[in-house]
Amino acid sequence: TSTAVPLTARSPEELTAFLAEQQAAHQALVAAGLTLDLTRGKPAAAQLDLAERLLSLPDGFRSRDGVDVRNYGGLEGIAELREMFAELLWVEPGQVVAGGSSSLVMMREVLVDLWLKGGVTSERPWSQEERVRFLCPVPGYDRHFTLLEWLGIEMVPVPSDEFGPDAEACAALVAEDPSIKGMWVVPTYANPTGSIVGDDVARRLASMPAAAPDFTILWDNAYAFHHLTEEEAASADILTLAAEAGNPHRPVMFASTSKITLAGAGVAFLAGSEEVVRWYLGHLGKGSIGPDKLNQLRHAQFFGSPAGVREHMARHREIIAPKFAEVLRVLDERLAGLGVASWTEPAGGYFISLDVLPGTAARVIELAKQAGVALTPAGSAFPYGQDPEDRNIRLAPTFPEPAEVTRATEVVATCALLAAAETLAS
Ligand code: PLP
Repeated sequence: TSTAVPLTARSPEELTAFLAEQQAAHQALVAAGLTLDLTRGKPAAAQLDLAERLLSLPDGFRSRDGVDVRNYGGLEGIAELREMFAELLWVEPGQVVAGGSSSLVMMREVLVDLWLKGGVTSERPWSQEERVRFLCPVPGYDRHFTLLEWLGIEMVPVPSDEFGPDAEACAALVAEDPSIKGMWVVPTYANPTGSIVGDDVARRLASMPAAAPDFTILWDNAYAFHHLTEEEAASADILTLAAEAGNPHRPVMFASTSKITLAGAGVAFLAGSEEVVRWYLGHLGKGSIGPDKLNQLRHAQFFGSPAGVREHMARHREIIAPKFAEVLRVLDERLAGLGVASWTEPAGGYFISLDVLPGTAARVIELAKQAGVALTPAGSAFPYGQDPEDRNIRLAPTFPEPAEVTRATEVVATCALLAAAETLAS
């Protein structure tokens, strides 16, 4: 590919010939009648099998301090599992809640509580503010955005790069505008870019002066332990940084074992200052007499220790790292040097973010659909589903079988080339 001539440097005749080649290649793919799917950021069956022993746990029904986990109670979750994840997330056990199976539900609860009741540092419920806005680093996680849209919280996109959100842009907006009440951050191996928030960015976000006294960072560490290489990136210690800066209640952290054990039957965690934890539990207690502690005990016994979690993640890596490598190999082989696409090479997480020629993402996705490959809808990674440049496509390689990953990525590459050629040749 080093000898590839960028499409933009080709003559009209060469482009017309290139277009014809890609059209033929696409027709052949359509005729092949494939059914492949690169949309689903979920574990493959082989990954779920790694957690099979969970199905025969727990051993007994008493937690470490003798509590019968079959019964009601213990809203904050069982101590041994909170301790284990406190160590992994670099917080104190008293700052962690172990809850149900979904951290996304916890995020919704926190936002609804803020909306109806206001937070620890709020002057009033957010619903009583004239206007509530959130900074949304883009590209980002579509469900974060639909959650805000559902609540009627306006979204303000902010750019992000390999070190996370543009902290200076965030600081400038937050300092001026009291309607900006919060922001999303996926600090480690972001969805979809794989970016890692460095200490400098984390410190700036934790300490930046905010016009809103209750400016809140929703720190979604969904992929904290999901390393694709042996080098394990450590997440910035946002709670300590915020406490040191005098903003101890600013961050609320989330994590879960959805992509560690079982996506539909894991354990989710929330962490924050002790006041934030009390605030959260106070509202939670209006609707719950306690979480599924049996599942929590099962998880505590399954992992045994924080090191047990890390060892378990290494087994996931063995299954999924080759799939990521395969996507990158095909993209490189087919697209490098042609000047029509760039993509991330994540060291962890569940996604590869592909940027195609501006103005062609929706077309690439349509062409892929014709060839039997489902891709996430264009604009998904942006607030209101609007990618201003129509260029971003999220690829999720974990779920399909390895051979399907190869085939599907080849289709994506052909469609990216065809869409680019259509644009440039016209
Ligand atoms: N947060 C991010 C960034 C995700 O990508 C996902 C799942 O794709 C979730 C949260 C969902 O987490 P949970 O399964 O704990 O609800």
